[in-house]
Amino acid sequence: MSRRFDAIVIGAGQAGPPMAGRIAATGKKVALIERKLIGGTCVNVGCTPTKTLVASAYAAHLARRAADYGVSAGPVGVDFAAVMARKNRVVGNSRSSLEGWLNGMANCAVIKGHARFVSPTAVEVGDETLEADRFFINVGCRAVAPDFPGGDQVRTLTNTTVLELDALPRHLVIVGGSYIGLEFAQVFRRFGAEVTVVEKATRLISREDEDASDAIREILEAEGIAIRCDAECIRFAPRGADVAVGVDCTSGEPEAIGSHVLLAVGRRPNTDDLGLEAAGVAVDERGFIRVDDGLRTSAPHIFALGDCNGRGAFTHTSYNDFEIAAANLIDGAARKVSDRIPAYALYTDPPLGRVGLTEAEARAKGHKVRIGKRPMTRVSRAVEKGETQGFMKVVVDRDTDAILGAAILGVGGDEAIHAVIEAMAAGVTAAAYTRVMAIHPTVAELVPTIFGELSP
Ligand SMILES: Cc1cc2nc3c(=O)[nH]c(=O)nc-3n(C[C@H](O)[C@H](O)[C@H](O)COP(=O)(O)OP(=O)(O)OC[C@H]3O[C@@H](n4cnc5c(N)ncnc54)[C@H](O)[C@@H]3O)c2cc1C
Repeated sequence: MSRRFDAIVIGAGQAGPPMAGRIAATGKKVALIERKLIGGTCVNVGCTPTKTLVASAYAAHLARRAADYGVSAGPVGVDFAAVMARKNRVVGNSRSSLEGWLNGMANCAVIKGHARFVSPTAVEVGDETLEADRFFINVGCRAVAPDFPGGDQVRTLTNTTVLELDALPRHLVIVGGSYIGLEFAQVFRRFGAEVTVVEKATRLISREDEDASDAIREILEAEGIAIRCDAECIRFAPRGADVAVGVDCTSGEPEAIGSHVLLAVGRRPNTDDLGLEAAGVAVDERGFIRVDDGLRTSAPHIFALGDCNGRGAFTHTSYNDFEIAAANLIDGAARKVSDRIPAYALYTDPPLGRVGLTEAEARAKGHKVRIGKRPMTRVSRAVEKGETQGFMKVVVDRDTDAILGAAILGVGGDEAIHAVIEAMAAGVTAAAYTRVMAIHPTVAELVPTIFGELSP
């Protein structure tokens, strides 16, 4: 059986559905193919469930600290089943509203199944062949499961299976001290599990500046999370019902014994089973689809959007890919991926909001920099809220006064960082920023102040 469409979208992640919607609205026939769950990673096993758990974990944390605020909350308990049921409700509602939108869309056929290219203009889904003039690939990534010694003798969790647990782990060992691992670490600790984070590098979130890594480590350790960096030789062995994780650190216990092990050591693109060779679509050495600045692949009628193109690893970068491709193809714009300013957040509590270059990246690129920094203990709103961990930091080019980047590790940092994101997008200089009148008391009100107190 064969069907023909004007365009085919493969994968219902963060770029696929809006792209299908834009094309369908122009009156063209579009097919959206999804092999698993509509909404992809973010909705089902990424942002939505994790941030829902982060909220429950924050509630537990704040309840335990109630006396700090003069409030008595009684003994604090966490009902893990209720926490997970809440998470499932939020995820389910999010997915079904997306499904409802897509299923009711004129000119759009939602097709369930695994798509594989059989030629540059056709994909196979089950026993059906679907043809089109244009394709949009939005297949995302999945967790990598590296070949650690002993890995085949123990059960490990991924970001997907950890979200399916029906009981709180007694001791969760998380291999990987980066963004995903650290969010889970704090969440499970706040739910009452013992947590150990095992990281190969010398410090956590090693892409960030050292001061951010150190502060995050301090925050997590203060909550009782054990951090084992420099874990040079990670290996696994069963130990009764538990798992021994060999860490071979330069100091401390050579093993961490956990009831559960979560692997959070990176993600790889879902491009190995897509028949890309048949379509003439080139990938790089890690399997990411090569794209130009307009997200066109080596086959000019095929576009790759979202995590699978290696140009971003976030919901907002995937959605922005859709906006760029749609603007260029439908509205005749000439937008480029390289025009966007990198920005993201780590949703620990307090969160780390980030934009642009770190101080180390700016120096490595040859910028002479001026730095502005203020601890959250000197931010009124943080003091009033009783949440003074972290700091705010801005990086400015000494020669041009251009804002190069910022980090806000502190209460509301994920929101306050937008003050800098928007200023950078508008090309505002540090000097101009100092003249902004901000609202008191907020975290963002200190951003102009920091730009006025730069290092010489
Ligand atoms: C634990 C975790 C937490 C995260 N938290 C955040 C966060 O807070 N903020 C943030 O911005 N980002 C976060 N991310 C990243 C974010 O989820 C992704 O960047 C985002 O989902 C964009 O993905 P995407 O659009 O590229 O594709 P995805 O959302 O991964 O969707 C791809 C879809 O394609 C389908 N598919 C794959 N191959 C085929 C095929 N051959 N045929 C048919 N269908 C196929 C898959 O089933 C999937 O549904 C998190 C990720 C994880 C794992």
